[in-house]
Amino acid sequence: MNIQKSFDDETAGVLYVVPTPIGNLEDITFRALKILKSVSLIAAEDTRNTKKLLNHFELSTPLISYHEHNKTAREEQLLERIKRGESIAIVSDAGMPTISDPGFEIVQAVIEEDQRVVVLPGANAALCGLIGSGLPTDEFYFYGFLPRKKKDKALELDRLKRLKATLLFYESPYRIKDTLKVIQEQLGNRNIAIARELTKRFEEFVRGTAEELLNWAENVEMRGEFVLVVEGTSHATEEDKGDAWWESLSVVAHVNHYIEEKGLSSKDAIKQAAVDRNIPKRDIYQTYHIE
Ligand code: SAM
Repeated sequence: MNIQKSFDDETAGVLYVVPTPIGNLEDITFRALKILKSVSLIAAEDTRNTKKLLNHFELSTPLISYHEHNKTAREEQLLERIKRGESIAIVSDAGMPTISDPGFEIVQAVIEEDQRVVVLPGANAALCGLIGSGLPTDEFYFYGFLPRKKKDKALELDRLKRLKATLLFYESPYRIKDTLKVIQEQLGNRNIAIARELTKRFEEFVRGTAEELLNWAENVEMRGEFVLVVEGTSHATEEDKGDAWWESLSVVAHVNHYIEEKGLSSKDAIKQAAVDRNIPKRDIYQTYHIE
């Protein structure tokens, strides 16, 4: 068990998680600037990017890099300094650190060592996209980036397709058309919103069905940054819902059902599950044997 009183000891060190703008420099809070000025060190995903931000706001706090490739080594250093009573801020290139960005491990390590983590609210692309999409916000599921390979994408979407929650994805401009296509194949013709270049000059929302968006995407050059917001299953049209008996099962449980209940060989069970799900046999085979 761990109880944190965030503000009861002014002499103890703190790890501040500080969001930065996702495109519009005005989206930084007074508090974020105050913290970035007062800490003894800022751990940044890319120090060159953060340097530009600091220059813009005339801040000169020392920077240190903290990214995917050095995070383990850095953790120890940062933790030591926090334990000595220093306060450190962590920032990523844009938006909330730890959300499809580095930072989760240092937050976890700081908590494990009974030190304090203080998170500042601020810019985040997924939430802006969700709210502007017009799709239900009562229940949502943030996924982040789907796998790049089509078959992995299809398997992940197959897993998500029974969720009632609105689904949130990040996607690069190079893959957005392909991803829309796989979403249509796996989830049906659901309502989708594409939120592009949020908070920037060319901010745009494209809202419609999967089919409408695919037609639209045919004639458009995809540029910029995107959030994809996809309607959850309970809000989808009746035809899309599907009522197959295996819908609530994982791929492995689906195959096992044929083996255990119907006495099929694993080869035939995989074949049958592939027919049910309308996806290639080899994808079922791989998931079944890897898991
Ligand atoms: N930590 C960030 C956050 O809190 O939103 C997300 C970082 S993730 C590495 C970058 C992805 O977020 C982009 O590829 C894009 O999908 C999405 N994104 C970031 N800024 C965006 C913007 N201004 N408009 C739309 N999507 C954006």
